[in-house]
Amino acid sequence: MSEQSQINRQILLVSRPQGAASVSNFKLVETPLEPLADGQVRVRNHFLSLDPYMRGRMDDSKSYAASQPLNEVMIGGTVGEIVESKNPKFTVGDKVVGMFGWQEFGTSDGAGLRKVDTAHIPLSAYLGPVGMPGVTAWLGLNRIIEPKAGETVLVSAASGAVGSVVGQLAKAAGCRAVGIAGGADKCRYVTETLGFDACVDYKAGNLYQDLKAAVPNGVDGYFENVGGEVLDAALQRMNAFGRIALCGMIANYDGSSIPLAKPSLLLTQRLKVQGFIVSESPEVWPEALGQLGGLVAQGKLKYRESVAQGIESAPEAFLGLLKGKNFGKQLVKLI
Ligand code: NDP
Repeated sequence: MSEQSQINRQILLVSRPQGAASVSNFKLVETPLEPLADGQVRVRNHFLSLDPYMRGRMDDSKSYAASQPLNEVMIGGTVGEIVESKNPKFTVGDKVVGMFGWQEFGTSDGAGLRKVDTAHIPLSAYLGPVGMPGVTAWLGLNRIIEPKAGETVLVSAASGAVGSVVGQLAKAAGCRAVGIAGGADKCRYVTETLGFDACVDYKAGNLYQDLKAAVPNGVDGYFENVGGEVLDAALQRMNAFGRIALCGMIANYDGSSIPLAKPSLLLTQRLKVQGFIVSESPEVWPEALGQLGGLVAQGKLKYRESVAQGIESAPEAFLGLLKGKNFGKQLVKLI
């Protein structure tokens, strides 16, 4: 390795947000790389994934997952390349997916590292449609919504990493796929590039009426990523016995919780609502990744990335993700 790459740049969480998260919650540090022990590998991380769940980890409150400890490297999914190996199962040059967090290099005994083939699938896609967000879409759609041909499936944050896959899979299952997204550009992308039947711009100021027009037969399956006013509008268009996959509520993450306007609709429409966490269903990952990988390799599943440059750009890019500044899967190109 070169002289320069003996240093690992890392971003630590150094304080917890009081209200909205800010760049002052993070700190960039430089740490010398330690020599490898027998059985270890060193990975140069090419891309870091920034994901909404990280906001929850910054808090110290009770949740389904432990909080991010202070003064440690921020948690996060990464893809990279083995640059040194003292483990016979890995060779220099192997491409791997891991959870090394917000840092340029990771060291591991190999546990939790998954080798991936980049012949037909770009490395970064393993953090998006052929990674955790893709499996999330697959799981919520196929195991909770269980779409049938001819039904209408609605998804919020439709241009994003999860939402974009939900709509394309629903369309492939013979459904009418309708998205909700922030802004005309994102909506145009959702219909023209991703092939959804319609997309409603919730920022245009006429959410309920625009949604009503986009789902003339109501909604049978709703894949929820946002919460707040978007969920309120969607609930009012649900058909009787509709299914809601409660995947995320990003509008609630960086501040206080937004109450439901009309919870009685859950009863009057006899809705099935199920929250889920993708990491708690390891049994579906092989099947889901197999299908998603095949679709991406064949160019049948489209996706888009927002790529911030350099580890130092991660905090700003992450705060932007919480405000919808990303357009597609938010990544950081490391080194
Ligand atoms: P995205 O790529 O969709 O990016 C987040 C998007 O959310 C933004 O681009 C923005 O889109 C929208 N958004 C951000 N803030 C707000 C807000 N205040 N109000 C309304 N919309 C907002 O992220 P992902 O695809 O990675 O994640 C989507 C959802 O899925 C998140 O809620 C996430 O927590 C959840 N998730 C859940 C998992 C699980 O296991 N349950 C696993 C993975 C993700 P726009 O500009 O269109 O508003």
